[in-house]
Amino acid sequence: MRFLITGGAGFIGSHLSDLLVEHGHAVHVLDDLSTGGIENIRHLKHRPGFQYTIGSVENHAVVAELVDEADIVVHLAAAVGVTLVVDSPVRAIETNVHGTEVVLTHANKKKKPVLIASTSEVYGKSHALPFREDGDMQMGATDKGRWAYACSKAIDEFLAMAYWRERGLPTIVVRLFNTVGPRQTGSYGMVVPRLVGQALAGEPLTVYGDGHQTRCFCHVADVVQALFALMTEERAYGNVFNVGATTEISILDLARRIIELTGSGSDISTIPYGEAYGDGFEDMYRRVPDIAKVQALIGWTPTRVLDDVIGDVVAHQRGAAAAAHPLPAVANAVGEGPAARAAAASNTPT
Ligand code: UDP
Repeated sequence: MRFLITGGAGFIGSHLSDLLVEHGHAVHVLDDLSTGGIENIRHLKHRPGFQYTIGSVENHAVVAELVDEADIVVHLAAAVGVTLVVDSPVRAIETNVHGTEVVLTHANKKKKPVLIASTSEVYGKSHALPFREDGDMQMGATDKGRWAYACSKAIDEFLAMAYWRERGLPTIVVRLFNTVGPRQTGSYGMVVPRLVGQALAGEPLTVYGDGHQTRCFCHVADVVQALFALMTEERAYGNVFNVGATTEISILDLARRIIELTGSGSDISTIPYGEAYGDGFEDMYRRVPDIAKVQALIGWTPTRVLDDVIGDVVAHQRGAAAAAHPLPAVANAVGEGPAARAAAASNTPT
């Protein structure tokens, strides 16, 4: 089959591209490289059936042409990360809402199935844990910038569902919960690559708030398996699915585990939310998915535990550091699991 992946040079999109190419499918990546990077897909450049276009998902002509050539569209292009959303809210809202409008408009003309990546942020401050797909959303006030991301993705979801019900366009929405793994950058705030980077550099690990807030971290290799199975499953059309791990850990315990696994001498430094994200920032205290729906449909469940996730992120960052400053002692330190070795190998420029 032929897949169009918007945002395919990003962290999740590049892993999905790897999986599809491995399965012998044709993949066309559309990415504007705003938060993605060509280094994430460079290793795929010469693989048969792989193509990429550097461009915006808001460009009607480009999207129309690429949708035409595809059998299935995977829409991952979005402004992601709390930092980006807090710092550049106009861009974040416009990219998320307008980009999805453009993709759905063109997919609808040829009735090409579309999978839209959404986020666990849409549950907002809900306390109805674990979060079920049919649960209520509970957003904060509009003067709290963080909720703009959740609202923009919620509009994307409404639009996808509306296209399915009103126009018969096959759409699937996947709410991703804290996906982590090799190639994820800490530059946009994501906690695991940030804390791993700090631990490896011997700097204090920055834990925001009191660190008692919790998350469930899922390995990207597990997540892309779920995306692949869902987008080729017709019974998924018109549905929303949670995809994520269900083992909860506080950010403070995460920091401690990262220090243990890296053997770092770093301390933990707690930083008030206001200092990290600006005044009036509201965090989600707990975030746990109910994954019964995706399990029932495709039998998916995560196979990797948190230590695998951390190990692979550590191996990837050490590998990147070794590539930037080749020192035999550092290069030999790479390797904490199959996914890490595969990622380190696949990132080698060709
Ligand atoms: N966080 C932290 N230190 C950091 C970056 C993030 O303590 O350097 C916290 C953040 O406040 C949140 C959690 O880690 O409570 C997860 O943050 P991330 O941005 O990775 O994802 P989120 O779940 O907030 O979308």
